[in-house]
Amino acid sequence: MQNSPVEKSLLIAGGGIGGLAAALACAAQGAKPLVIERAKVFSELGAGIQMGPNVTRTLFAWGLEKEIEALAFAPKKLELRDSQSGQTLGALRLADRAMQAYGAPYLTIHRADLHQLLLQKVSSSGAAELQLHREIEVIKEDDQGVTVNGRSLPEGFFETHMTEAVVGADGLWSDMRQYVVAPTLPRATGLLAYRALLPMEKLSEKLRTQNVTVWVGPCVHVVLYPVKGGGFLNLVVVVKGQSPESLEKWDHAANKRDLDLAMGPVHAELKEVLNAVPAWRLWPLCDRPPLQGPEEMAKGRIALLGDAAHPMRPFLAQGAGMAIEDAAVLATCWARSDLPVSQRWKLYAKVRWARNAKVQQASVRNGHIFHLQGPLRWGRNLVMRALGEPLIDVPWLYAGP
Ligand SMILES: Cc1cc2nc3c(=O)[nH]c(=O)nc-3n(C[C@H](O)[C@H](O)[C@H](O)COP(=O)(O)OP(=O)(O)OC[C@H]3O[C@@H](n4cnc5c(N)ncnc54)[C@H](O)[C@@H]3O)c2cc1C
Repeated sequence: MQNSPVEKSLLIAGGGIGGLAAALACAAQGAKPLVIERAKVFSELGAGIQMGPNVTRTLFAWGLEKEIEALAFAPKKLELRDSQSGQTLGALRLADRAMQAYGAPYLTIHRADLHQLLLQKVSSSGAAELQLHREIEVIKEDDQGVTVNGRSLPEGFFETHMTEAVVGADGLWSDMRQYVVAPTLPRATGLLAYRALLPMEKLSEKLRTQNVTVWVGPCVHVVLYPVKGGGFLNLVVVVKGQSPESLEKWDHAANKRDLDLAMGPVHAELKEVLNAVPAWRLWPLCDRPPLQGPEEMAKGRIALLGDAAHPMRPFLAQGAGMAIEDAAVLATCWARSDLPVSQRWKLYAKVRWARNAKVQQASVRNGHIFHLQGPLRWGRNLVMRALGEPLIDVPWLYAGP
C-alpha cells in the first residue's frame, strides 16, 4: 500500500542516544524531525555510560542539567590498577577537579536512564514525531529533497516521505551509510566485552566503591563504576576471544567459566567483585578504521551521526559522547538557513570528522596500552606510577568540543 508523500523537514533514522540527541537539538533550532526507529519498542539494553566533561557540558547546554544530575553518579576519581598485583598505577581526580579544570562534571549514568530522558524531552517538545518498528529506504535524492520509503515491520506497508534532509543515526550496522560511502562491513576487533550490573549491596563493605576503576592486565582489562545514584556497580570485562557466530546480534548470554579462562589469574580483590556477579552478557566488539575525511560523514542531503559514522572501541568511553557532540554541531549547521542543505551537512562533516577520527584512534591506542604484557607491561606500570594524573587526563578531549 502506498500513501501520498508526507512532508518533513528532517528525517532521522535510528532512535538511539545519537538519533534522539539529534532530534532534540535540531527541534530546538526549529526543525520538525521525524525519528524512525527499527525496534518495536524503545529500549536501551546494556548498562553504564561514562560521560566526560565534554559530554555533560553539551547536555547541560540543552537545559538537561537538573535531570542529568538527578539520574547520574559523580565518581570521586578514575584510578588505574594492575589486575594481577593490585598495585595502583595512577589516578585522575574527577569530582571537584573536573569542574575546576573543565567547567563541567564527569558523570556515570545508566544507558536506559539517559535514553529515557532524551526520549521524554523529544516527545514533550512536541516538535518531533517518533515512529517505531519501521525501516527506511532512500528512493531518490534531487534538488527538491529526498524521497524516502518508511516500511512498517513486519507487515511491510509503505509510507512515502519527502524530506529536506536525512540523518543516519542507525548505529554500527547502519543501512544509511550506503548512501554516503561505499558499503563495507564493520571490522571484528577480536575482543569481547562481558558486561553486568550488580547491586552494590551484594558486595562486602570494603568493595563498595565511588570511583571508576580500570584494572589493566595482560590481554585483559576491567572497568568498574557506580551507576543509579551509586546503588549499582557497572562492570565491563574486555578479553580476547572468538566472536559468537552472529556479530550483528550484539547481546549474547555469557558463561562465567569462559570468562575466567580468558582472564587468567587476577588479584583477589578483583576476583571477589567478579565472583559476586550472578549473570553476564556478552558483546563482540566491532569498530571501523578512523574516519579519513569529511566525505565519510555526509553526502548531499544525507549525513551520518554517531556509531553509523564512526563506531569506536569503548576504551576511551566516548562513543555515545561523540554522538551527542555530533548532534550539537548538526543542529547548529541545520540552523544555517542561508545555506542549501547539502552545504549545511558539508559544514557539519568538516567540523566533526577530525575530532571523531582522533577519538577513534585514541580508543584503539588505549586498548593496546591497557592490554600490554611482559616487559612492556612493567614499563607501562613504571611510567604510569611516575607520571600519574597528567598521563590519565585527556585535556584535548574533555575541554572540547
Ligand atoms: C562495552 C561498551 C561500553 C561502552 N561505554 C561507553 C561509555 O562509557 N561512554 C560512551 O560515551 N559510550 C560508550 N559506549 C559506546 C556507545 O554505547 C555507543 O557509541 C552509542 O550507543 C552509539 O549511539 P548511536 O545512537 O550512534 O547508535 P545506537 O545506540 O546503536 O542506536 C542506533 C539505533 O538505530 C536503530 N536502527 C538500526 N538500524 C535501523 C534502521 N535501518 N532504521 C531505523 N532504525 C534503525 C537501532 O535499533 C538503534 O535504536 C560503549 C559501548 C560498548 C560496546
